[in-house]
Amino acid sequence: MSATKIVATIGPSCDTAPKISRLLKAGVNVFRFNLKHNTQKWHSVRIGRVREVSRQMAMPVAILLDLQGPEIRIGTFKEGKLLLRENDKVFFVLQSQSLTRQSRVQRTNKPRKEIVLNNLKLLESLKKGHELTIDDGKFRFRVLRKKILEVEAKVLEGGVLKEKKGVNIPNLELDLPTLVEKDFADLSLAARHEVDFLALSFVRQANDIKILREEINKRQIKAQIIAKIETGLALKNFSEILAETDGVMVARGDLGVELPIEQVPFYQKQIIKECLAVGKPVITATQMLESMIDNPVPTRAEVSDVANAVYDYTDAVMLSAETAAGLFPEKAVLMMKKISRFIEEKNPSPERINYTVKHQTSVMTLAANDLLQNDFCQREKIKALVALTETGMTARMLSRLRPKLPIVALTRNAGVRDQLLLSWGVYPILLPSPESFYDKKDHLHIQEFVKIIKKQGWVKTGEKIILVYSEDWGTPGKTSIIRIQEVN
Ligand code: PEP
Repeated sequence: MSATKIVATIGPSCDTAPKISRLLKAGVNVFRFNLKHNTQKWHSVRIGRVREVSRQMAMPVAILLDLQGPEIRIGTFKEGKLLLRENDKVFFVLQSQSLTRQSRVQRTNKPRKEIVLNNLKLLESLKKGHELTIDDGKFRFRVLRKKILEVEAKVLEGGVLKEKKGVNIPNLELDLPTLVEKDFADLSLAARHEVDFLALSFVRQANDIKILREEINKRQIKAQIIAKIETGLALKNFSEILAETDGVMVARGDLGVELPIEQVPFYQKQIIKECLAVGKPVITATQMLESMIDNPVPTRAEVSDVANAVYDYTDAVMLSAETAAGLFPEKAVLMMKKISRFIEEKNPSPERINYTVKHQTSVMTLAANDLLQNDFCQREKIKALVALTETGMTARMLSRLRPKLPIVALTRNAGVRDQLLLSWGVYPILLPSPESFYDKKDHLHIQEFVKIIKKQGWVKTGEKIILVYSEDWGTPGKTSIIRIQEVN
């Protein structure tokens, strides 16, 4: 068990029931479904499969749907790929122009190199001197001249370009929609499967989150929103975005293309710190154990990368192609777990930062954590912080303080249980029959909760827990009681 959570992207390398089961055992808390790849049907079948395996193993797991968003991708090639050498000339064209290709080929006898960019807005916005990149920055081009609906560019960085790769144009502010047609269709998938998280790609401002929130509310989707921070604009507007979103992903793949790559670690640290201050979960993503796509052991640098994110107290670390398409998905998860466990043991408690205090729950959780710093509590065999939580707020407010004890979150809501799987150090339990938790005088029956926690192995007779809750269970932000409870 480690406090830092693991998000694993599902793909052909890990999508059978036995493989899903092995990843769950290895320590995956959240499965990410990247809607940029595969069909809706493909995802739907595998979401069902993950849920079924999780049910059979009695191991909860959360589902995160990663919406494609207004991503720009190149089209396909006749040969499936295109060889690009440095200084080659290429033409970025709209799909509809392919008809003209035939005549040119006949006239010059030498086919020109064309890349389809079926985004009219982008083609119109590109100007001489603009640099654009494809495939996470691996291919670079500079615009030489522009004609009507066609852009001529020089290859700065070449290679063999594969189809449908993503395009980035750093420093170009395109007026793209927050959600594209495909996202609206994918929201119906989210509704059908009652997914736990929806990640929004290419967030640029707080309004993007508001737009998604409105759409999910219309569809009565209870998922929490994860804002993927992957553009310079998102960094500029980060505080406003953080105020609107439920969680954040440091999407280092695109961020490392949109920004000079050497700036990414600095912003990663800043983002984690700001998320901690408000108690919203943050996922550190992309290329964490990249070499494990092909190798059973990671590089020292990759181990350091995971370790540093854990040192900084990220809520979760994420695997992408390592689990989706790699040769060693289970080993990659186990490696992350090992690194997290070791670092968490060595890591001192974080310095007390400027935590936002917006409601009573914030104050009470700060006080509960302060108790742990006290000698008395250390002598008293206190084994866990236990939160009774309706929306997950009390547990998240405890989690942001990164206490040295596990946070056992008891909730009556299955969706909240699964959402809490993303939060650092939180171990959620779904309560079976809520009615039995009130005694005849309508007070909470604390011994019933203690029984459940004991049954799950968190405490033994003679040990103690700190309970953080409210008699008026169900009113978010109103946590009012801290109680030291002996287990008998
Ligand atoms: C990223 O860019 O790091 C990321 C996680 O997003 P995607 O995989 O959708 O490109």
